Amino acid sequence: MAMDLSISRFWRKKVSVYRLYGSRCKACGKVHYPPKKACPYCGSRDLELIELPKRGKLLSYTTIYAVPEGARPKSPVYFGLIDLGITKVVAELTDVADKNSLKEGIEVEAVLRRTREDRDSGLIYYLLKFRPVMVHR
Ligand SMILES: [Zn+2]
Repeated sequence: MAMDLSISRFWRKKVSVYRLYGSRCKACGKVHYPPKKACPYCGSRDLELIELPKRGKLLSYTTIYAVPEGARPKSPVYFGLIDLGITKVVAELTDVADKNSLKEGIEVEAVLRRTREDRDSGLIYYLLKFRPVMVHR
């Protein structure tokens, strides 16, 4: 079976910048993020593009202090393992005011962040990150 056309379109147009897309293997049912061309679990190429939930729970996180100079406004950078229900994703955590607010089980949501602008082409690049959902009491 040929690769799903929507997956090919994803790789050409990078549609995932505006929504949180993953791929689901039609053979074994596993969900992957970012979308894959072949299933890393069973090797099948019969995949479909699916939209993933934008909210999940933080399972754990890693703090990275060694940030390349000039690449980021500041360090450290946090990467979280997030449980979206149908799959787990690893993504950068943003809007972390206080490291102590990062706790196992807190709710996080996907946000679109502008990363850079290419002045020659006028293209603006976006990246999906996750931020803690503020709980107001
Ligand atoms: Zn599979």
